[in-house]
Amino acid sequence: MSYEQQRRDLVSHLEQRESLSDETLDAMRAVPRHAFVPQQHRSKAYRDSPLPIGDGQTISAPHMVAIMTELLELSYGDTVLEIGTGCGYHAAVTAEIVGPENVYSIEYHDSLARRARETLTAVGYGDISIRTGDGKKGWPEGAPFTAIYLTCAAPEFPPALKDQLAVGGRLLGPVGKGQQVLVRAVKQPDGHFDEEEHGYVRFVPLQ
Ligand code: SAH
Repeated sequence: MSYEQQRRDLVSHLEQRESLSDETLDAMRAVPRHAFVPQQHRSKAYRDSPLPIGDGQTISAPHMVAIMTELLELSYGDTVLEIGTGCGYHAAVTAEIVGPENVYSIEYHDSLARRARETLTAVGYGDISIRTGDGKKGWPEGAPFTAIYLTCAAPEFPPALKDQLAVGGRLLGPVGKGQQVLVRAVKQPDGHFDEEEHGYVRFVPLQ
């Protein structure tokens, strides 16, 4: 079966299993996940599971990318910061909705950041900005962001990320050591955050 057909089948499965908007489903249909997966795992690219990408890291499962995209309530023109580029797949899904020039992503491992940049450029998302560094510090020159998400688990949301979020903006990511919960925090006009929990999850830890 062609990658395109496998991808359509995967998105149909997600559509049945989760409550997802057309924007999220279209973005998942558009991004060629196989291009982000190392050669030896490419035949498994359209399974709904995480896969190894090197440096002890993983590409998130498609349903998790879809759920996070949904919870971020993204629209075209939103400025988004991702912590944990990994292979770049999730950033590409985000870029489908907000526009690649509005996506910033930070990766701790330089080898992964370089490879992500190459893949993203090859498949048409070269305008995404990627930097090697510590995501806890955020990306001050790009702030304020309308959405910030982490694809690695922190004991709590790093304060710099809270500062770099616009009022009304969404901060989303796995929180906790050991047991992790997906938390969405929305910044209020008085600067405090309204938090909601969205179930138990398993992500690699924030370095
Ligand atoms: N977004 C990826 C998933 C990446 S896994 C996808 O599209 O599937 C999480 C990534 O977070 C790993 O690549 C890991 O190296 C990175 N990471 C861990 N701690 C970090 C930190 N402090 N700053 C930036 N990236 C970090």
